[in-house]
This record gives sequence, C-alpha cells and structure tokens, in this order.
Amino acid sequence: MISEQLPDGARCARHPETSATSLCARCGNFSCVACTVQRENDVYCVPCSRRFFGFVGIGCPPTGPVAIVLGVIDLVSIGRKRAPSDGWKLDAIAIVAGAVGTALWAYIVWLHYFDPSGPPPVFPDSGY
Ligand SMILES: [Zn+2]
Ligand SMILES: [Zn+2]
Repeated sequence: MISEQLPDGARCARHPETSATSLCARCGNFSCVACTVQRENDVYCVPCSRRFFGFVGIGCPPTGPVAIVLGVIDLVSIGRKRAPSDGWKLDAIAIVAGAVGTALWAYIVWLHYFDPSGPPPVFPDSGY
C-alpha cells in the first residue's frame, strides 16, 4: 500500500542512490527503508518523526511542572493562613495531574531518545 503511492524512480531524499519505499506523511519527502519510521497508520521520515516527538515533549512539560509549582505555592499560602483553606483539594489535584503529566512526558522522551533497543513502542504496530 505504501509503495503504490510512489512514482517510478522515486529516490530517498537523504540517499539519492537508494530507491524510495515510502512517502513521509508530514513533509512529503520520499524515504528509503532506513529513513522510514512508522507511527500508527502513517509513515514519516526520520527528521519528521523526531520533530513530532519533540512537539509532544515540549508541549507537555509546561503544564506538568507549572501545575505542581502553583499547587505547592498555594499549599504554602494555606499553611501560612494566607489563602482559603478549602483550596487544598484543588492544589492536590493540580499536583497529582502535573506529576502524572510530567512522568508521562519523561517516559515518552526516554523511549524515543534514550532507549537503545530501537524505535519506541509508543504507538501500536499496525502490522505492516
Ligand atoms: Zn518528513
Ligand atoms: Zn534513506
């Protein structure tokens, strides 16, 4: 199915001497087997795959740590009787959600950039 979309003689964008086997779903560049990364039902070139995960990584952390910091600051205010004491539940939720988000982000980043065993099993393999 992937190779059907390619014109005859298509070459990998990074390896001009190699025949392309797929088309990146994001940038549209041709890529050879070595340059192809499959995620869910789409295939991407290596740079786009890295960029995609970069966005995921950059998009998550601000919400996580910021939520934790704000929650802790408010808890401290409550401890000093400077904020309404019934706000602690919201702070607790913010801290827990922030911790989960941060942990998830760290896990994804670790899988993608530091796992030496290969591409990350973040998305289920579609069986191709
Ligand atoms: Zn691409
Ligand atoms: Zn290539």
